[in-house]
Amino acid sequence: MDRSRLIFIFVGVGILAAIIVAIAVPVSLNNKSKRSPELARQYMRETPLIDGHNDLPYQFKKGINNQLQTVNLNERPPWDPTHTDIPRLRDGLVGAQFWAAYTSCDSQYNDAVMHILDQIDVIKRMVQMYPETFDFVTTAEGIRDSHENGKIASLIGVEGGHNIDSSMASLRMLYELGVRYMTVTHSCNTPWADNWLMDEETTPEHNGLTDFGKDVIREMNRLGMLIDLSHVSVKTMNDVLDIVTAPVMFSHTSAYELCNHYRNAPNSILTRVKENGGVVMVNFYTKYINCPPQNVTADDGYATLAQVADHMDHIKLICGWECVGFGSDYDGVGTVPEGLEDVSKFPDLVAELIERGWTEEEVKGALGNNLLRVFDAVEEERDALAADTLPYENTMPRDSGAEVNNTCRTYVYNP
Ligand SMILES: [Zn+2]
Repeated sequence: MDRSRLIFIFVGVGILAAIIVAIAVPVSLNNKSKRSPELARQYMRETPLIDGHNDLPYQFKKGINNQLQTVNLNERPPWDPTHTDIPRLRDGLVGAQFWAAYTSCDSQYNDAVMHILDQIDVIKRMVQMYPETFDFVTTAEGIRDSHENGKIASLIGVEGGHNIDSSMASLRMLYELGVRYMTVTHSCNTPWADNWLMDEETTPEHNGLTDFGKDVIREMNRLGMLIDLSHVSVKTMNDVLDIVTAPVMFSHTSAYELCNHYRNAPNSILTRVKENGGVVMVNFYTKYINCPPQNVTADDGYATLAQVADHMDHIKLICGWECVGFGSDYDGVGTVPEGLEDVSKFPDLVAELIERGWTEEEVKGALGNNLLRVFDAVEEERDALAADTLPYENTMPRDSGAEVNNTCRTYVYNP
């Protein structure tokens, strides 16, 4: 073969290779970006996306005094900010929702129990008003069934231990009404547990859980109510993890390592949650995702969808993929990340996890299987304890600080 012919072949092969690369690379990239959203939607049809925390019921209270008949959830609600309505829940392929029954800390020692009944009632009425969309559910199996039937499983989580007014009886009755998790505190101490703000104090009020608080946790395990550690101090988290006999949940909490806000969970806790078999459902709030420096306001878009995925990656790294979940906090926060503007955006975040190399099993774990595993275990522990554990009958001692100042309380017990 002569030299010029050889050069001709080399050049020809080179041009051919360049053409193949020029065509194939964009096609494969295109396939990748096209494939992830499709796969995300497929996984979400196969496994319910369970969101740990949505505050729409509080918007009902604030915006329309719980008068549900004045709004149509098939349309965009009139309040602002607005993250949730039925069309957007459907667009977002939401499979199950823990609706937050929240009352502000102002109601502690006042009318918290009345307000919490209001919020439980409004969630139940919402489910009844839209039976083609919602299904009221109190079990792990119920979530699976609802999803199979194309409904959004609707569960109740009570946000803040102040809502039981230090009464084991109230806790039990919340369970009877269908409440399936209670956040141990909101952003105030109860007379028996410290909240996250105590992490800023050198001498926290209770240094975690009091003896009564430990019994509240044990009673929750006995009842089969999930224990939610979002909003509590690190010491309270550790005290709970020391005594629980079933896995715990964080219904709306992100990673402290990536954003040093005390509402987030530190690595030391993520490691313990791994041992405990619990789940950490990531909060989307811009301030917890991308901690703003002082004097910077974390408006909408201050954080991004990718940064929320970073928190999920981090929790996966420290706690394992079996730990990760979604805990949006939609309609409970003023600002949300770019790309996660409302409940319709969940599939985009799922697609991002797929793009980052999460396997089908890992994605489906985060979507709902991890929470379902925790829920199953909590129900099994309830059944195991039923044989020989009696309801806790202890009451908060009357001389225990805060209770003494509760002038709203009346007492009929006369020893
Ligand atoms: Zn919250």
